[in-house]
Amino acid sequence: MSKKRAEKLYAVLKKILCESIHLTITDNTHVFLNASYRKKMWHVRLHWMFTKAPSPIQHHVARYILNHNKKSSKVIDQFIEEHWHWVRHPLPSIVTKGKVYDLQKIFDRLNRLFLKGKIKAKITWGKSAARRSYEQLQMGSYSSSRRLITIHPSLDQKWVPRHVVEATIFHEMCHAMIPVKKINGRKQIHPLVFKKLEARYPHLQKVQKWEEKNLGSLLRKPGRG
Ligand SMILES: [Zn+2]
Repeated sequence: MSKKRAEKLYAVLKKILCESIHLTITDNTHVFLNASYRKKMWHVRLHWMFTKAPSPIQHHVARYILNHNKKSSKVIDQFIEEHWHWVRHPLPSIVTKGKVYDLQKIFDRLNRLFLKGKIKAKITWGKSAARRSYEQLQMGSYSSSRRLITIHPSLDQKWVPRHVVEATIFHEMCHAMIPVKKINGRKQIHPLVFKKLEARYPHLQKVQKWEEKNLGSLLRKPGRG
């Protein structure tokens, strides 16, 4: 974290809060913003991501501290969501080698062949699901905040064809490439550009046929996220 950046952030806060400020820059993984006014002084603790934020965001931070401005709160939330990957989260342990399929190898190959190596996400097998959460029942999922693709462990079986595993991974890689779009306030999870990108994978029809037949026995509640 650069001192210059912290000083710039301090200057923005000072301009809006107009009082003495004790600013602490943190690397806290849970609390990103905390401020209180005590003894004629603002005590502000901010995650270092805000030192890297553009000025308008920093202004919102100051305004939020000053009067809990609702719009500022929204803007800040969005900034945090977008930069979640800057936070040192303990990632769930990454397991790429399964008994049958090595996810990283497949990921790298698909990335090279169809996406010009652009995808930077990590990939892991999900935990074998004793937990019956919704996420666990999807063949694959992508977390944009963690930049992590998780693949359902039931795909790691010999009778599951390689192209099914590939298509599942590729689908989630497309999610990593194409953010969820909001059109008229409605979320478009698989917009047309997504479908076009996904169609770069050559065996989609074959995969769909296989899934129609076998997904039921693979997962209780089929579907990809
Ligand atoms: Zn999807």
